[in-house]
Amino acid sequence: MSDRWVPELLAPAGNLEKLKVAILYGANAVYLGGQKFGLRSAADNFTLEELVEGVEFAHARNAKVYVVLNSFLHDKEIDELPEFLKFLDEVNVDAVIVSDLGVISTVTENSNLEVHLSTQASCLNVEAAKLWAKMGVKRVVLGREVSVKEAAKIKKESGLEVEMFIHGSMCMAYSGNCVISNYTQGRDSNRGGCAHSCRFEYGLDFSDDQRAKAQDIKAYFMSSKDLEGIRVLEEFIEGEIDSLKVEGRMKSHHYVGTISKVYSDALNFYKEHGHLLSEDIKEWETELRKITHRDYTLASLVEPAGADSIYTEREHDDNEYVVAGVILDVVKNDHMVLEVRSAFRPNDSLELVPFSGNARMFNVDFVTTIMDEPYEKTKPGYLVKVPYVDGAMQWNIVRAKCLAVAGV
Ligand code: SF4
Repeated sequence: MSDRWVPELLAPAGNLEKLKVAILYGANAVYLGGQKFGLRSAADNFTLEELVEGVEFAHARNAKVYVVLNSFLHDKEIDELPEFLKFLDEVNVDAVIVSDLGVISTVTENSNLEVHLSTQASCLNVEAAKLWAKMGVKRVVLGREVSVKEAAKIKKESGLEVEMFIHGSMCMAYSGNCVISNYTQGRDSNRGGCAHSCRFEYGLDFSDDQRAKAQDIKAYFMSSKDLEGIRVLEEFIEGEIDSLKVEGRMKSHHYVGTISKVYSDALNFYKEHGHLLSEDIKEWETELRKITHRDYTLASLVEPAGADSIYTEREHDDNEYVVAGVILDVVKNDHMVLEVRSAFRPNDSLELVPFSGNARMFNVDFVTTIMDEPYEKTKPGYLVKVPYVDGAMQWNIVRAKCLAVAGV
């Protein structure tokens, strides 16, 4: 493969298994949270032991690990931070992602950790980036309101590395600077508890006359579509954006594996050929529709997001595919051991998603227990043997079209 430069692909790792999946499917770096100080309290998050294992797994495959410390902290929590920083430094974490000025100063005074400014800090311009650089920041994760062109200028004029979101859920506020969830659900969006209140349907209190006239008003008026940047990937590369970030530490194994594979396939193609092909982009877009998503938008990557970025239909799109299972072991030319995630039965058609190359359909000619007792149908959590598929490897995803499992 040519040594042409391409950006880093940075994937979310909600837990240790997803970290492995992201890296094996092609991510160059992952970001994750420890038990405290991050913004996703509902993600599994990593224990100290898992963090050590995750860093070793990543570094053995030339991938990086960034740890999120992007909550806004009170003094009591700041007091507890140096001990955690010492641990992160000792286990060779590659950077920490920070929003709070107090946290930045605690990190720079107590460790040698590289500091990345979180998107929560809403850095949108060159002057702000220069100021963050003076405070010891090495990379800025730019606000989602910045276009790729603006990001390229910020990189050039500030001398900082820049990171941009390329895929995933959006926030209707300047990332996280919103308290709808606090007031309506009692869940603090700036401490990892966002309930996505902006996605809900809201009613307006009309008089009877007005109500009759207002019947057609869509009430999901704050609900954003999901970001999908594959169509403008070449612009990111030409703008020398250092890192392309995928949102979604709360999302599934299927999501993490699919996104990592699609974007790394695209970046590898560019690395080799110096361009992308429109037919490949269509194929990658088709793959990106197989994971749970809302309608996609370019949001503000090219022009500032407008009304066409609002998702007016309902809270979620239907899933086209589900994960039937994850491969835990492979006995070549004989069988694969699968941990079942969604029920299936003998004679269903499933698809193996290899780490590289196209998905492969196969027929489930048999499903048995580990002791070779046949199953009539499976349930989530079962460990089962299914037929071997050429090229299968541990941690590969096996997926099923939703229709295939609808009757199970
Ligand atoms: S409720 Fe919506 S707008 Fe508010 S922080 Fe959460 S995602 Fe952002």
